[in-house]
Amino acid sequence: MKIERDLKNLPHKTIERLSQYRRALLICHEQGQTHIYSHEIAKIQHITAVQVRRDLMLIGYSGTLRKGYNVKDLIDLIGEIIDSKRGINVAIIGIGNLGRALINYFVGKRSHLEIVASFDINPDKIGNIMSGVPCYSIDELADKIHELHIEVAIMTVPADFATQTADALVAAGIKGILNYTPKPVNVPETIYLEEYDMITSLEKVAFYVKIQDLN
Ligand code: ATP
Repeated sequence: MKIERDLKNLPHKTIERLSQYRRALLICHEQGQTHIYSHEIAKIQHITAVQVRRDLMLIGYSGTLRKGYNVKDLIDLIGEIIDSKRGINVAIIGIGNLGRALINYFVGKRSHLEIVASFDINPDKIGNIMSGVPCYSIDELADKIHELHIEVAIMTVPADFATQTADALVAAGIKGILNYTPKPVNVPETIYLEEYDMITSLEKVAFYVKIQDLN
């Protein structure tokens, strides 16, 4: 089908920006705004209006010159593009400080993305329930991934365990991984991997702060 083929061709950065546009549009919608111009979205996102228009053209949406984009229509369309109709079940691997923060932050934020399980190696944590999310033993990973139809995993284990955790997730049939550990992992091409290293991001910000002093 054409629409499905087009979805596969959307640039990764466009997907990221669509999620950001929707977040901004939801706030506008809550405040009663019905229409928005590309330059207004651009200003919120710190990008150019041309970039916004290009992204929205890629998903087949064009506003009217006079009134701009219809906020509600755009929220719905972005939802159709980036959300999965059946919803996606997510698991967190490693319920340390970061894993716990993610669960507490994320639960209930997005209806189509549900954290249904967490996994840990520590017997003191296994069997606990946090924000409604049960913690299972890492030994049960493969069984629970199948039983609970978990498609996405967030890795928040210590760096030394990143590789073995990713391998276990792949073997269990996971489809996407968000790696929050500072250790890059290798997965087959069929699995979507996103790596986010907070320390690198912070060091990058600190670097740009440092070079301000050089001017
Ligand atoms: P805490 O003090 O609660 O353990 P932390 O943030 O210091 O938190 P880390 O050492 O970063 O904990 O570990 C993160 C979590 O990953 C911990 O809950 C730990 O028990 C768990 N963990 C460690 N190794 C594994 C593993 N191989 N599989 C699953 N979970 C693991």
